[in-house]
Amino acid sequence: MGTWNDYLEQNQPRFFAELLDFLRIPSISALSEHAADVQRAAEWVAARVTAAGMEHVQILATGGHPVVYADWLHAPGKPTVMIYGHFDVQPADPYDLWTSPPFAPEVREDRVYARGASDDKGNMLVPILAVEALLKSQGALPVNLKFFFEGQEEIGSPQLGDFIPKHTDLLACDMVLSSDGGQWSEEQPLVLVGLRGGCGVQIDVKAAKADLHSGMYGGMVQNPIHALTTIIAGLHAADGRVTVPGFYDQVRPLSAQDRERIAQVPFDAAAEKASLEVPGFFGEAGYTPRERIWARPTLEVNGIWGGFQGEGVKTVLPSEAHAKITCRLVADQNPTQIVELLIDHISRQVIPGVTVSVKPLAFRAYPYLVPEDEPGNVVVREILHEIYGVEPFYVRSGGSIPVCSLFQRHLGAYTASFGFALDDENIHSPDEFFRLSSFRKGQSAYCTLLERLGR
Ligand SMILES: [Zn+2]
Repeated sequence: MGTWNDYLEQNQPRFFAELLDFLRIPSISALSEHAADVQRAAEWVAARVTAAGMEHVQILATGGHPVVYADWLHAPGKPTVMIYGHFDVQPADPYDLWTSPPFAPEVREDRVYARGASDDKGNMLVPILAVEALLKSQGALPVNLKFFFEGQEEIGSPQLGDFIPKHTDLLACDMVLSSDGGQWSEEQPLVLVGLRGGCGVQIDVKAAKADLHSGMYGGMVQNPIHALTTIIAGLHAADGRVTVPGFYDQVRPLSAQDRERIAQVPFDAAAEKASLEVPGFFGEAGYTPRERIWARPTLEVNGIWGGFQGEGVKTVLPSEAHAKITCRLVADQNPTQIVELLIDHISRQVIPGVTVSVKPLAFRAYPYLVPEDEPGNVVVREILHEIYGVEPFYVRSGGSIPVCSLFQRHLGAYTASFGFALDDENIHSPDEFFRLSSFRKGQSAYCTLLERLGR
């Protein structure tokens, strides 16, 4: 039968051709005219995992874009590992900035260029190929395995918040490995140990029934933009702290070890400032820029609108003003509770002459931190160390991956990130590419990882 390594080597040309096929499907989840393509990508994935030897392959409806499920559960006494990834992609415009068309994959210098090459089709095909190599070379897997691939990650997985709690038996597992991630560099691996969460509200301030003449009413009727900016200005102290009562109550403080690990990850402040073209950094006092991004919550005004913004002068007293606000949250804050705190705090502001209303926005993700001894992450760290020859960085994400929070909340399973994307691969941008070296390296890394998890 040979080893999985032989199998991988013998089948690289076919695997590469399959990657190109997969990349040709324009499975853009954000655009409704591509809904059939997202479905087609689901069918492609279902057929591919069937060919790999997985069982109970299903395309499941979610009310939005579908998910693909498959399993292989013949390793009694071994852990059940679920591998996650997504087969939808970001829109590809502006098309004229692509060197080759986004859905006509092209290889240049051992890199494949296409929308979704790195995020996440190239990365999610990797574990499927690894599983095929293990099954075809050994006739069995070292662990019980489930695949859970979704078609709506790039639009924030809107239906999975309902789908996952309704399918906890089907998806039950001991740990999740996510193919939707990357490494620090070609030489430096990372272990993802934390994610920020998020939530948001919209503030609507209303004064008169319509815009008024500022000469006839200015001074007598409250200006809702003034009222709104007063509210917004009160949400932060001068030192950057959020002033909403209770906002920080559930925040897990940084330990000395946390701070040391964060400080080990290189951060070139001068280069970062220059590349962003900002005169300086600003954030909560008492924390380094990276601690502020990775380990502290924030409250951000994303947009504010109202009144006249056209050419010239219009002496108007606006009738309304609005703002959208989102927060990034850290463990152990609860987004539902933070929304309540925000609504409560903002609604209490007494500003004469206007009515203020606050409503939640459709953005809610739980933050989390992976425990130090979580078995998935422990093994991932070992294997990455072996492959790269250096200790991985312990990295947190300033962003949110809502699905990982859902796995943790509803399945009790932490997600270990095990992907091979690199930061320069233009994900979500023109000329997205994936290194074919990563495509190959990932396959043997997944075989080794699954074997190790089976011990
Ligand atoms: Zn992704």
